[in-house]
Amino acid sequence: REEKESLGVKDDLKLTLNAVKVLEARYLLKDEDGKIIETPRQMFRRVASHIGIIEALYDFMEYKKTGKIPENAEKIGKVSLTQEEVLRRAFNYMKEDGIMEGTFEEFMDFLSTKGTSAHLYINKFEEMMSSLDFVPNSPTLMNAGTKLGQLSACFVLPVGDSIEDIFETLKNTALIHKSGGGTGFSFSRLRPKDDIVGSTKGVASGPVSFMKIFDVTTDVIKQGGKRRGANMGILNYNHPDIMEFVLSKDSENKVLSNFNISVGVTDEFFEKLDNDDYVDLINPRTKKVTKRIKAKELWDAIIDQAWKTADPGLIFLDEINRKNPVKNVGDIESTNPCGEQPLLPYESCNLGSINLSKYVNGKDIDYDRLRETVWLATRFLDDVIDANKFPVEQIKKVTRMTRKIGLGVMGFADLLIKLEVPYNSWEALEIAEKVMSFINEESHKASQHLAEERGVFPAWYGSEWEKEGIKMRNSTTTTIAPTGTISIIAGCSSSIEPIFALAFVRHVLNGQELLEVNPLFEEKTRSLGLYSEELMRKVAETGNLENIEINEEIKKIFVTAHEVDPQWHVLMQATFQRYCDSGVSKTINMKSDATREDIAKAYRMAKDLHCKGITVYRDKSKTVQVLTAGTTE
Ligand code: UDP
Repeated sequence: REEKESLGVKDDLKLTLNAVKVLEARYLLKDEDGKIIETPRQMFRRVASHIGIIEALYDFMEYKKTGKIPENAEKIGKVSLTQEEVLRRAFNYMKEDGIMEGTFEEFMDFLSTKGTSAHLYINKFEEMMSSLDFVPNSPTLMNAGTKLGQLSACFVLPVGDSIEDIFETLKNTALIHKSGGGTGFSFSRLRPKDDIVGSTKGVASGPVSFMKIFDVTTDVIKQGGKRRGANMGILNYNHPDIMEFVLSKDSENKVLSNFNISVGVTDEFFEKLDNDDYVDLINPRTKKVTKRIKAKELWDAIIDQAWKTADPGLIFLDEINRKNPVKNVGDIESTNPCGEQPLLPYESCNLGSINLSKYVNGKDIDYDRLRETVWLATRFLDDVIDANKFPVEQIKKVTRMTRKIGLGVMGFADLLIKLEVPYNSWEALEIAEKVMSFINEESHKASQHLAEERGVFPAWYGSEWEKEGIKMRNSTTTTIAPTGTISIIAGCSSSIEPIFALAFVRHVLNGQELLEVNPLFEEKTRSLGLYSEELMRKVAETGNLENIEINEEIKKIFVTAHEVDPQWHVLMQATFQRYCDSGVSKTINMKSDATREDIAKAYRMAKDLHCKGITVYRDKSKTVQVLTAGTTE
């Protein structure tokens, strides 16, 4: 408690020390002198009151149409200046979309004379976040109710084959990174290295060289921004520069360090690979074949490089486009940085995750309470689209046309531990299937309900949803995000990943050591009378129980990421993917002695099990590694 207060944070939500540290560093609002001016609860209140107030606009719309005022309406004499700003902006968006009648003044008058039920939603949203049942993606936490006002984590931008287009996208990238969003790009339209440049009669420098400019830009913006901007770079397998692209990253993380890279592959590529056939490399400018290489040669290079550096991953373009619900708007060529969100060019998506560890009741999952949270969270995420301040006009247009939202989960490993089910078991896959299909179905129902209230998303006409006769407010509702930071805030295991380490020693400044133990592991060992500082220090040496003498049941339940066979990792990803509209972010962790064949097997399995993409991470394959199991040096 003292340590928390020494950070200048009054922790009114009983968060973990790590959560308080993260919030203090980048989330809680500060005054001009850098002094923190809100508590964690007030942060959630700020978010709730700048998202939930959107409900008032829909109340007004309904009133204009039918004369009806919602039940429990409360008259609001005055809204805060920042709320007014959100309302005014959203009002204008709705006007532009042709769905809002009347004037803003008339709306404000409606608020004070007729009233709205927005306050009810504001309270519910606040409760849902303060209880850590659901946490929206970082930009929503950081920027709601602030000048920046940008609320989405995921963006995809097109890269055209001209200097003007490239630098236009570079500028937009900078604007997005400044606000805490991440960007994905396909560089496949760029002409290859050494191709001619008409205007100067010079030679082109190719996609990889341009990626480096994006990388440096990210570095520079990072200095002033609230968080590290991240990028996904994609090049299709038949681009003439594909080999250079595959080899472009190194294990020291010195080049393209702000990029994850993935090769865009299609079913045709795998046919060629299976038939030991050649791939025609095609210049996107001339559409002519420049060279032929054996599919196997490319495959081996991809696998070898992924073994060495963890990059490139694969993105399965045909699978993604088969599942694209808005083919009427366009084809998908890229995902966001961590791969969970396939998006159209200029499309953005806001995410949020339900903390599954909170839904265990004895040895059962509390589905009734989970349903309530899914419905409320779906509504919250739909409101975010209207409350959002889009950094670029075109992004606003496309995002509001498809209204994608990404509801996901975190704390899945915690849930399994509480249910005493090992992560690497068929039972765990069954639970994954049951939980995610439930969330997917309920969020679809919630979106259908919103469509009745508010209308379908504008691109619904002509979409796959229309063909099925299902009216939806959002073209997608579910995504499994990595939840890198929000799971720290919520104090749960991240996303659908297994526990990374049960105990580790954190080296803090001035030579001090801090022993950190997974809370569920501590609870369990204490309840069995097994807990001792000595045991925890021993566990911290490797982070796992592999070489610890402890009962077998505990070893199974507290299995960690590196002990889980890669195939279980892929199976888990594929299981969540089956019940997820968008994609699944998952790291297929491997031990440092994993072979190239292990990687090839995982990549192949991901394709066969209809994943949308895959990345592996072999322990110690990068010298700069974010998480290390075991004692840190
Ligand atoms: N992201 C980013 N920079 C970061 C972390 C995340 O741009 O340092 C973006 C990226 O698009 C990623 C998405 O945010 O895919 C979601 O990441 P995560 O769930 O880890 O974010 P959180 O909301 O937990 O901060």
